[in-house]
Amino acid sequence: MNIILLGPPGAGKGTQAKRLEKKFELVHLSTGDMLRAVVASGSDFGTKLKGIMEAGQLISDDIMIQMIEERIGQPDCEKGFILDGFPRTIPQAEALDEMLSSNQISLDYVVKMDVDEEDLVRRIVGRFSCAKCGAGYHDKFSPPVKEGVCDSCGNVEFVRRPDDNEETVRARFDAYRKQTEPILPYYKSKNILKTIDGMGSIDDVTAQIQQIIV
Ligand code: AMP
Repeated sequence: MNIILLGPPGAGKGTQAKRLEKKFELVHLSTGDMLRAVVASGSDFGTKLKGIMEAGQLISDDIMIQMIEERIGQPDCEKGFILDGFPRTIPQAEALDEMLSSNQISLDYVVKMDVDEEDLVRRIVGRFSCAKCGAGYHDKFSPPVKEGVCDSCGNVEFVRRPDDNEETVRARFDAYRKQTEPILPYYKSKNILKTIDGMGSIDDVTAQIQQIIV
């Protein structure tokens, strides 16, 4: 089974993808995570990417298409994958289609997570995660039970994404509206687009996705 999760920044795509990855033994392909790994490498290329990401803009289609093509071609993806953060533009969606059909891979569902923008800004600005195990938290809505200590692994170091500030979040929303939303009719015309309410609890959203994909 191959799925795309679509939705604006902070809709919870990553959280849901991690759950589906475990439950259905799929591979979670997050282009944001792949880019952050390149940035963390400290290379010149990484520094270039960092500037674009921190401005809330999109990385060029050529780079993204190449990145995902290389990843999807790896053997672990044969068991099925969840795309999180790709495609984000019409050329990316078209390139993905070509890539999949030339490798006889089907795309089963595109799940769009509907969310309220203002609520999301509140959700994103304030989120942080454990530097060791990646467990996610929020200053107001879901702080660790014991302040400064990860509930899951007991670690005391946390990280915040540099693009999780209000100015960048607004720019990322803008990019979503202008460049990503136009791909929705493309998947609708293929009859694989499913829309869910992304504003419920994490469990509720997982349940809605499961109803679609099982
Ligand atoms: P994400 O973690 O998916 O929110 O991605 C973080 C940032 O990485 C985005 O704001 C973009 O700058 C960049 N990015 C991730 N995926 C893509 C993509 N498919 N196309 C262009 N830029 C991307």
